[in-house]
Amino acid sequence: ISFIENLPKGELHAHLNGCVPLSVLRHLAESYEPDGDPSRPSLAQITAGLHTLESFDLDDIHGFFGAFRTIYALIATREALATATRAVLSQFLDSPSPNEPPECVYLELRTTPRHTSTLSVEDYIDCVLSEVERYTPNQAALILSLDRRMPLDGDDTAVTISKVVAEAIRLKNDGRRVVGLDLCGDPLAGDMSLLEPYIAKAKTAGLGITLHIAETLRNSPEETLQLLSYGPHRLGHATFLDEEAKAKVVKDKIGIEICLSSNLMQTVPTLSAHHITHYLEQNHPIAICTDDTLPFRNSLKGEYALLLAPPPVGLGVTEAQVEKIAQGSLDAAFSRSV
Ligand code: 5GP
Repeated sequence: ISFIENLPKGELHAHLNGCVPLSVLRHLAESYEPDGDPSRPSLAQITAGLHTLESFDLDDIHGFFGAFRTIYALIATREALATATRAVLSQFLDSPSPNEPPECVYLELRTTPRHTSTLSVEDYIDCVLSEVERYTPNQAALILSLDRRMPLDGDDTAVTISKVVAEAIRLKNDGRRVVGLDLCGDPLAGDMSLLEPYIAKAKTAGLGITLHIAETLRNSPEETLQLLSYGPHRLGHATFLDEEAKAKVVKDKIGIEICLSSNLMQTVPTLSAHHITHYLEQNHPIAICTDDTLPFRNSLKGEYALLLAPPPVGLGVTEAQVEKIAQGSLDAAFSRSV
C-alpha cells in the first residue's frame, strides 16, 4: 500500500460530475427545491436518484448516463458547482490526513459545460476553472468535454460543439488553465464524421485532444478509424479497437487512459480479458485513471492496486513497471506533452 500511496501519479481521466462525493450530494439535496419547474426532477425523484447512486448496480453502460440527471439537478447554481468542484479537487489533490499522501500529484479534471436557469455556459466554465486555478499549474488543469449529444451549432442559448471549442480556445489564449478538449457522452450518439474542423481548430490553438473511443462493441470500426484520423493526443477507454485501429494506435504511440474498474463494471467481463494486457505487452503508453469515482466507488490507489496485485485479483505487474506507468501518466499531461 505505501508503495502505491507514495508513487507520484497523474489522474488524467476524471469526470467532474462523476466524481462528486455522495456526502456533498446528500448535503445539496437537503436544500433542493424544484421551484415548480416541471423540467426539474421532483424532490421524490431526487431522493430516488440518490438512492440509485448509493446502491449503484451497474451492468451496462446505457443505464449509466441516466444517473447524471440527479447530479445535474442538485448542482444547478454557481454556489453548488463551486462546492462540488472544490470537493472533487480536494478528493484527488489534498492529503486525507497528515501522514497520507494525496491520491495524485497532478489532476487533469474534465467537465462538460452546461447551463441552468441561473448559470450561463460561460459562468459554468469560469466557476470550475476558478476552483481549478486555486491549485498550482503543476497540480491541476481543466479539460472541456464535448458531449456526443451536443449539436454542432445553434443559437446563443444552446450549448454546442462550436461554442465549447470557441470558449476553450478563448480561455487558453487568455492564459486561463484550459489545456484540452475531450469527446464523451453516450457512446452511440451523434455523427462523429462532422467533428473534424472543430478538432483541427482546437489543435491549432494548442489544445490537447482526448477522445472516448470504441467504448462499446456497437461502435463501428469506421467511426473508430475516423476519430483516429483526427490525430488525438490521447484516447479514453479504447476498449474495442480492431486490429487495424490497434496497430495505428501503437504505431502512433497514442497514450490510452485506462479505467479498469469502470470497464469491469460496464463493458469488460474480467481483468484477464481487459485490453490493458495487450498494451502492457506492447510497452505502450497508458495512464491508469478512475473515470467516475461516485458510481464506481473507486480510487486511484485502488486502480493501481489492481495493477500490482497478483492474479486473479490483479494483473501482477511488477513494481518497476508500475513506476514506469505512473511516470507515464505525468508525462502524458497536456500541460507537458502538447
Ligand atoms: P461532467 O462532464 O458533467 O462533469 O461529468 C459527467 C459526464 O461525463 C456524463 O454525463 C457523461 O456525459 C460523461 N461521462 C462520464 N463517464 C463516462 C464514460 O465512462 N463514458 C462516456 N462516454 N462518457 C462519460
